[in-house]
Amino acid sequence: MKIRSAVIGLLLAALAVPASDAEARRTGKVRTEAIDMVVIHSTGGPTCDAATGKPIWVKAGTLEENLRNIEADHNLGIHYMIDRDGTLRASVPEDQVVHHVFHYSGRSIAIELINDGDGRDPFPDAQLSSLVKLLSDIKQRRGITRDGIKRHSDLDHALLSCDSTQRRKVDPGAAFPFASILDRVFQPQHKKT
Ligand SMILES: [Zn+2]
Repeated sequence: MKIRSAVIGLLLAALAVPASDAEARRTGKVRTEAIDMVVIHSTGGPTCDAATGKPIWVKAGTLEENLRNIEADHNLGIHYMIDRDGTLRASVPEDQVVHHVFHYSGRSIAIELINDGDGRDPFPDAQLSSLVKLLSDIKQRRGITRDGIKRHSDLDHALLSCDSTQRRKVDPGAAFPFASILDRVFQPQHKKT
């Protein structure tokens, strides 16, 4: 009985963690525009270091810390995040707007991939397969066209405020096999010769 109540105590303690995390925000504004776009991001990328004012490269980080950070952020948000092993986590519901890209947030769904976004960090097959599955599902439900799937770098060409020789958004980066992902999502599955 002692062991059992200890276990129940642990379970209650574990349940109390998310409930007490008042900072977690998994809601956005209700949409007023139709969804016709999906934007793919990576968690890593360039930014201006607040302390030094110099450009730095933020590494991928873990799924848990990225989710925690973005859900605590008062402006930014995400609909889905996919870990390197293919684990898919949903955050804000698709029918609500999250801010993830300038000018296009109102009409798009945001997917974040755990990756450095530097063109060198490889995207494992498990992660890409999970992305293909998610994109296929969204395409089916929302009628998204091939041209409606974008990389963040396709939509934001602005420069870093601390270094005008560098673009501020280059994610998901050159290591992301964009054309092959589009082919997998949009080519008929039963193409046999
Ligand atoms: Zn991005």
